[in-house]
Amino acid sequence: MEWETVIGLEVHVQLRTRTKMFCACRTTFGDPPNTNVCPVCLGLPGALPVPNAEAVRLGAAAALALGCTIHETSVFARKNYFYPDLPKGYQISQFDQPLATGGRVTFESPERGRIPAGITRLHLEEDAGKLVHDRFPGRTAVDLNRAGVPLAEIVSEPDLRSPGEARAYLTTLRQILIYAGASECSMEQGSLRVDANISLRRPGEPLLGTKAEVKNLNSFANVERALEAERERQVALLESGERVAQVTLLFSAGTGQVKQLRSKEESHDYRYFPEPDLPPLVLQDEWIGECRDALPELPEARRSRLEMALGIPAYDARVLTSEVPLADYFESVVVAGVEPKTAANWVMGDVIATFNETGGFPVSPPTLAELVGLVRAGTLSHQAAKRVYAELIQSPADAPAAVAERLGLVQVSDQDALATWVDEVLAASADEVARYRAGETKLMGFFVGQVMKRSRGKADPKAVQPVLQEKLKQASRSG
Ligand SMILES: [Zn+2]
Repeated sequence: MEWETVIGLEVHVQLRTRTKMFCACRTTFGDPPNTNVCPVCLGLPGALPVPNAEAVRLGAAAALALGCTIHETSVFARKNYFYPDLPKGYQISQFDQPLATGGRVTFESPERGRIPAGITRLHLEEDAGKLVHDRFPGRTAVDLNRAGVPLAEIVSEPDLRSPGEARAYLTTLRQILIYAGASECSMEQGSLRVDANISLRRPGEPLLGTKAEVKNLNSFANVERALEAERERQVALLESGERVAQVTLLFSAGTGQVKQLRSKEESHDYRYFPEPDLPPLVLQDEWIGECRDALPELPEARRSRLEMALGIPAYDARVLTSEVPLADYFESVVVAGVEPKTAANWVMGDVIATFNETGGFPVSPPTLAELVGLVRAGTLSHQAAKRVYAELIQSPADAPAAVAERLGLVQVSDQDALATWVDEVLAASADEVARYRAGETKLMGFFVGQVMKRSRGKADPKAVQPVLQEKLKQASRSG
């Protein structure tokens, strides 16, 4: 029997601020434990929170980039629960009056093509600390550097229909947030974390099934794997006539299995109430308008601009805009004078490989443009240019022409040199010469190949052909 999978995602992203949500402590990742703390983020009696204007601005930028409506008034609320990583005994979040609601992310579904997923809401909150289990044998330590770091929680509608779709949605969401400058979305540093809700129902059934929640997934690959494991578990339950219970699960990347954490806390268990130490957050229309105007070009717009203005194929535009630095580099290469499709081929080939390895671009756009110029002028073959590029990665200050010279890769188009190689080849291929003269003109490719071989790749193939044609005519006349 068939089941339809229904998935919704809650994504927590760390906003890119220098300081915390309600105090002036730094947000730097990797500092010694408990060095970025103060009375406010430690929850000491009498300490009062002050909202970080930059965090509000970045939250608004994220919301606008996702097409959400920002509300003029939103309200901070206390979410009460006891856990050792939460010094105040509550987390300041937003509940029934969030910063923004009602956006969408349009993404490429592996099964359904280009589709939108709704964004229910985006709200601001502070992060909790981190429990450290491997520092003292048999004990658990707590690092509160992360306590109070500003987060945006982005909740999607249950619009996703497969684990693969969840992953594709996340990839696009991450891209938008990075483009908007709202978050670095670094999975390694935990600045993007995902909770996934999944339920099953019969196709066509209007009501949702009972959902389970897989918490704290820290890579997109693990989101997909966890949802696949949970879908299998639910299918097995339903097919054997049992019910799915509303549970919270943790995914183990080691075993690829989910295991139950605790029975789901209902939202009223958190005893939300408006934060008495903070007034409602009121944002003027004018300020929201300025945020909208300040938004940089987003991935979708950049993709279509590259396609339309530079005439590169849709696929190329998608690859090139996947990361901001890659798209910037590509555009600089075009500005440096390289024809767009040629620039795209270089960037999607050798340059992207270097970028993935080193995270940077050792060869500057003008230098790459110079190298491409040597190919266009016939001084270098494309193969030889790739070797020069590899050399330039090691010594980026060198001129491409000098490197080509040093490696002995400069193509020879000198007529005398070419004529010598051609004569040698024709003398060694009497049989083929006879067949060519008898009308088998496609042998031209063979002759060119032989000359290239004899010159050890240095002959300029475009210059070789006219010399060959001339010599073969002579051979024909004298024979
Ligand atoms: Zn602090």
